[in-house]
Amino acid sequence: MQKLKIPISINPANAALKRMTIDGIIVKGDLSRLAEVADVLDEYLDVTFECGIDPQNLVFVQGSTSVNLELSCQRCGGGIKTNVSAEFLYTPVRRAAKESEEPIPDAYEEIELNEEGEINLIQLVEDELMLALPIVAMHEPEDCSITEEDMTFGELAPEAMDEEKSNPFDILKKIKEIIKELGDGNGSSKK
Ligand SMILES: [Zn+2]
Repeated sequence: MQKLKIPISINPANAALKRMTIDGIIVKGDLSRLAEVADVLDEYLDVTFECGIDPQNLVFVQGSTSVNLELSCQRCGGGIKTNVSAEFLYTPVRRAAKESEEPIPDAYEEIELNEEGEINLIQLVEDELMLALPIVAMHEPEDCSITEEDMTFGELAPEAMDEEKSNPFDILKKIKEIIKELGDGNGSSKK
C-alpha cells in the first residue's frame, strides 16, 4: 500500500481526542534545512505519529522517523553514508498558561502551539533530525582516505601554526624597536 504525505500541521488536542495515528511520508523536498547540511538520499522519509491523552490528562504527540543521508567527513572531505533516526514525545503547551499548570513530566518535551493552536509536524520532524545529526561527521579511521600517518603530520601542524602565530609578535617587537630608535633619533635632532 502506498503511503500518503503526512499533514503539514495538526491540532494536537483534537488529534488526541480522536487518538489519531499517522503512518505516512514526508518528501525530501519539504526538508530544505536538512538538505542544506546533508545530502538527503531518500526520496521520501517514513514518519509515524500517535496522539493521545495520558493518565495525567496531558495531551501527547509521539512519533519516530529515520532518514538515509550523506554527510561530509570533517577529516578528508569525503562522503559518509549514514542513517539518522529520531524518536520523540511531546506535549503541547500554551505560552500564557504555562506557569499556573502542573509541572510537565520529564519524559515529555514541550512544544508551543502556533497562532492557530496547531503544531507543524514537518517542522517538528526536521528539527528532530537536525538535532540527531552527529556534531562532527567523520569516517572511522580505517574507512577514511586520510590515514593515521597523515594524522601524525596533522598533529604536528598546530605547533607550526603556533610558530607562525608568534612571528607577527616578533615582527611587531622589531617594528616597535625601530620606531623607538627613530623616535629617539627625531628627539635628539630636535634638541
Ligand atoms: Zn574521511
